[in-house]
Amino acid sequence: MKEKQRKLKKIAERVEKCTRCRLFRKATKSVPGAGRPDAEMMFIGEGPGFHEDQQGLPFVGASGKLLDKLLALINLKRDEVFIGNVIKHRPPGNRDPLPEEIKACQPFLEKQIEIINPKMIVTLGRFSMAQFLPDEKISQIHGQARFVDWQGKRLTVLPMYHPAAALRRGEMMNQIKEDFKKIPQLLESQEDKDFAEEPIKEEKKREQLSLINGQT
Ligand code: URA
Repeated sequence: MKEKQRKLKKIAERVEKCTRCRLFRKATKSVPGAGRPDAEMMFIGEGPGFHEDQQGLPFVGASGKLLDKLLALINLKRDEVFIGNVIKHRPPGNRDPLPEEIKACQPFLEKQIEIINPKMIVTLGRFSMAQFLPDEKISQIHGQARFVDWQGKRLTVLPMYHPAAALRRGEMMNQIKEDFKKIPQLLESQEDKDFAEEPIKEEKKREQLSLINGQT
């Protein structure tokens, strides 16, 4: 735990000094992410908004309040998970991050995932999902866990709508709550991470996927 904490701190220091894209110029604070260094679950959003930029912490505005409530639905607090973002500096006016900004920031996310080694990654919104599942549509796969081979790592990714979208649209609010309620069971059905060292054949992969998604 101490070692992971130290490594994450080092990443945060590198993020703070980062000039790999131009977002740092207008940002107040960098937002590297926060939470348990040995969390079983990582929640990954898009990028900092106004309040996150002011405080240097992820999901502390309206979306963050909703995220806290969603975590409470499954008896979790934010310090029991790790919360981060695809982009670590705020895009001006909360515009969508550009492909080159996402690319520039990707090594930090990659390193954080490597250090934390979570059992499951919950992506919040389409930009986060697109990191791992670029060819999927969030409206079609939200709430369904997927195995992903990503940068040489075997990951389990659970795509969810972004809390900000749920705040804007009532039907998404119900959906995101239902999707969150699936988390404990999905997490429990994750085998020990060691199994991931072995390459999984396509057929086996499909079998495991239907198992973890509760389909027969
Ligand atoms: N939205 C995000 O995607 N991330 C945050 O940290 C806050 C709002």
